[in-house]
Amino acid sequence: MRITKILLVIFTILICTSYSQLEAKKTKMTTRIEPINWWVGMKNPNLQLMVYGPNISSSEVSVNYPGVSIKAVTKVENPNYLFIDLVIDKETAPGKMMMTFKQGRKVIANHEYHLLERNKGSAERQGFGPGDAMYLIMPDRFANGNPENDDMPGMLEKADRKAPYGRHGGDLKGIHDHLNFIEEMGYSSIWLNPVMENNQPQSSYHGYAITDFYKIDTRLGTNEEFKALTEECNKRGIKMIMDMVFNHCGSKHWWMDDLPMHDWINQWDEFTRSNYRLSTISDPYVSKYDKDLSVKGWFDTSMPDLNLQNEFMLTYMIQNSIWWIEYAGLGGIRMDTYPYPDKHGMAVWTQHIFNEYPNFNIVGEAWITETAKLCYWQKDFPNKDGYNSHLPSLMDFPLQDAMKKAFAEEEGWNTGMARLYNTLADDHLYTDPMNMVVFPDNHDEGRILHSLNNDIDKLKMALTYSATTRGILQIYYGTEILMNGNGFEGHAKIRLDYPGGWEGDNINAFTKEGRTAEQNQVFNLTKKLLNYRKQSEALKFGNTLHFIPEDGIYVYFRYTDHETIMVILNNNNKGVKKVDTSRFKEIMASFSEGKNIITGRKINDLNLINIKAKSAIVLELK
Ligand code: CA
Repeated sequence: MRITKILLVIFTILICTSYSQLEAKKTKMTTRIEPINWWVGMKNPNLQLMVYGPNISSSEVSVNYPGVSIKAVTKVENPNYLFIDLVIDKETAPGKMMMTFKQGRKVIANHEYHLLERNKGSAERQGFGPGDAMYLIMPDRFANGNPENDDMPGMLEKADRKAPYGRHGGDLKGIHDHLNFIEEMGYSSIWLNPVMENNQPQSSYHGYAITDFYKIDTRLGTNEEFKALTEECNKRGIKMIMDMVFNHCGSKHWWMDDLPMHDWINQWDEFTRSNYRLSTISDPYVSKYDKDLSVKGWFDTSMPDLNLQNEFMLTYMIQNSIWWIEYAGLGGIRMDTYPYPDKHGMAVWTQHIFNEYPNFNIVGEAWITETAKLCYWQKDFPNKDGYNSHLPSLMDFPLQDAMKKAFAEEEGWNTGMARLYNTLADDHLYTDPMNMVVFPDNHDEGRILHSLNNDIDKLKMALTYSATTRGILQIYYGTEILMNGNGFEGHAKIRLDYPGGWEGDNINAFTKEGRTAEQNQVFNLTKKLLNYRKQSEALKFGNTLHFIPEDGIYVYFRYTDHETIMVILNNNNKGVKKVDTSRFKEIMASFSEGKNIITGRKINDLNLINIKAKSAIVLELK
């Protein structure tokens, strides 16, 4: 037993070190070269290597590889860095490129740099879109597939499942083990909160303080495990969406002890927090003072603010994203806090990604609940200041805000169902409403069930609405089993462990038997909705037609030439409503019956449809 354990530890250490040397032999003089490898046959022939090593800038570098030439070598303020611009000709063959560093005649370092062959179809990969439903998972809190990696050598924070803000041990293996569960629920993509190394002394579980952009956190797994997970997902038709963070890194990032340049990060005389006012970035009357605070202020003492106005930093981050797409086989990126870093740098990044992968997709988090401010950030919006983010997809915060309120409040001229109607009526502001990601809740806010006063009927309505309105769908893990934490009481409450994800858990909510009757109701509804949506062209890609809510009843249609889906939401708290459908003639005239997609029941008379209070009906019209 003991020997097996020791062997396992040695094995794990070997895996970890084999990453840092990823197919490249290192010498003392070059501690790091990043990107850690590259590919031949990329559309952009340029590659900028960041070389880090003691006094490396005093050396002469040469490469000896057919098709590869050095365009420029740049020394910066810190002599421990060199930036090498390479050009990789189109026809260059894959292989091991030797890089030699010399001081005078003396060779001080050789580095074997790997240029790999791209996977077939890599450039044409299809990113997520309105046809997809994504499952948002916080990897530390979903399932502990490998208890052996809970504590890893060199990691500052040890596992402590009892600590609400501690690391609980969930990992990539845990997600891999539950792919059947995810697939059967009907998801076609997975968004994981950041999985890159977060070697911070505390609260490292959430992943948003990255300390190594080229390494999966060893407590979640290895780079190879992430790649294997993505490949397995892809086989099942599930796209992997990687969460990336460009606004900040972790204070324990390796470069924080020895920055390449003073302006690698935004520095202040003393700690200065961002004012978190995103409106400053599109505000035509903004003061420089407010805007600088917003963009250059730090998110937190533990999160230094990266300066994307520094062209070396920007190139580093662009290449890092491309590296992960190419290495792991990603089907999308979720970009954290899109407006907070330099917006021009972000637009350059976005264009570089789409230059390499024209069919890819990126969703940006711009936490703005007003459509008039949010639309500024969508690709090709005709902004008066000429700014174009080139970002196709946005998290639909206005609709989420509307949902939280609409299902929880009394009906009125502007409240209740009118809120959903009015929010969607603002869609004329988006350049691409179908690329908005609709979500009832996420890892940063109170659970939707909590917002809806723990009313399960209202939760069912919110889920039905989310799955049937226009756009891409995202659901946060645990919503289907009634997780109901209040975000204002702290993030720990909304990031609970999935019951059954840990060996020895008393309850296993991954199984029907482990869920309560109420949990099964919502779980089954979610599953039905997602699986129906998966095969419905109308729900995925169809047009939308909606009618002004009357008397707490909101009716809308999703339709194509061949398929029409009718959704009725009754937001009243009591009784049964008879919905007279004569108002909807323009779309219903040619239909005589409907099938309830949840219950399977047929409705033979479409003139008057009965609907209970606090419920939703989704009908396939025939
Ligand atoms: Ca683990």
